Amino acid sequence: MRLDELTANGTHTLTVCNACRYCEQYCPVFPAMEERTSFARVDLAYLANLCHNCGECLYACQYAPPHEFGINVPRTLAEIRLASYEEYAWPRPLGIVFRDHSVIAALVLAAAFSALMLLVARLTDQPARAPSGGDFYAIVPHGAMVAIFGAVFAFAVIAIAIGVTRFRRDASGRPEGLQPRTTGAAWRALRDAVTLRHLHAAGADCVTGEEERRPWRRWSHHLVLWGFLLCFASTSVAAVYHSVLGWIAPYAYTSVPVVLGSVGGVALLAGCAGLWMVRARRDAALGDPAQNGLDRSFIALLFVTSLTGLALLVLRESAVMGRLLAVHLGSVLALFVTLPYGKFVHGFYRIAALWVYERRT
Ligand code: SF4
Ligand code: SF4
Repeated sequence: MRLDELTANGTHTLTVCNACRYCEQYCPVFPAMEERTSFARVDLAYLANLCHNCGECLYACQYAPPHEFGINVPRTLAEIRLASYEEYAWPRPLGIVFRDHSVIAALVLAAAFSALMLLVARLTDQPARAPSGGDFYAIVPHGAMVAIFGAVFAFAVIAIAIGVTRFRRDASGRPEGLQPRTTGAAWRALRDAVTLRHLHAAGADCVTGEEERRPWRRWSHHLVLWGFLLCFASTSVAAVYHSVLGWIAPYAYTSVPVVLGSVGGVALLAGCAGLWMVRARRDAALGDPAQNGLDRSFIALLFVTSLTGLALLVLRESAVMGRLLAVHLGSVLALFVTLPYGKFVHGFYRIAALWVYERRT
């Protein structure tokens, strides 16, 4: 759908909701909507990023299709949310990548980067086919790993930070005349995001279909979020061990980085499998079918990264370690490259939207 059509549909939907207000208790979208009498593109982007697609307001709606008003808030906001990622992306021309994700493309990218890692090992004369006693740096030198992954990760952080800052700046200025209440707003937004407070944590769970509420979407989200953070913590601790303390990998199975990475990896595997299954079972009317590739490619890359990471841990003393390491690093690289232009950004846009919301309440 073109941007002007999206804006027209969003304005139509929210204008009807603003008159009706039946769903005002469901989530922050409705109170934030009621502060507005008209809806510019920045308002639509802000409201879309407040929505977590629980689906509740579709089944409650007396104006949902086949009614002639055709109100479907979850789908309309999902479409606008994607357009907002594209619009705020940095550099802006790369925003079109959001439209073209697919599982196949993600796996091909991971395979291409895996081949690149094998090439790096070969160019640096590392014995990729020989057992190396679990020493990853005997396959891909530490300096090469830091240079490649550091550069890509730094770019991803900068690109996401610029996009989210632009979004927050636009959303913060509206509606004009509302006095912002800033004390603790960022903290409350972060708390709400990491506890998934609005994902019906205290009441009925997200809808899967009409009259069907299951906890799996919330639990799977938790597993992915905390699994990712544990893996990030594992890598950070390992970096401190190496660079500050001079403790060189491989680390014992009982060491802090290995325990954090193992627990995080298992959580990610379970969470990704859960999200995949929840998506497959969910009523298609609740989402935007055009975003299947965006969602699934991110889940697939996270899953492959976790699986190869855990396999690497188990098989690190074996002769397949070199090739397995190349596949794991290739998957991580594909994940990092796509972070600023994939589903990963939704967490940051959501925190920013909640931050603006908490300043208004
Ligand atoms: S989703 Fe439907 S029922 Fe809910 S506020 Fe909007 S128009 Fe009213
Ligand atoms: S789908 Fe859920 S979170 Fe989104 S607007 Fe409707 S009730 Fe709110």
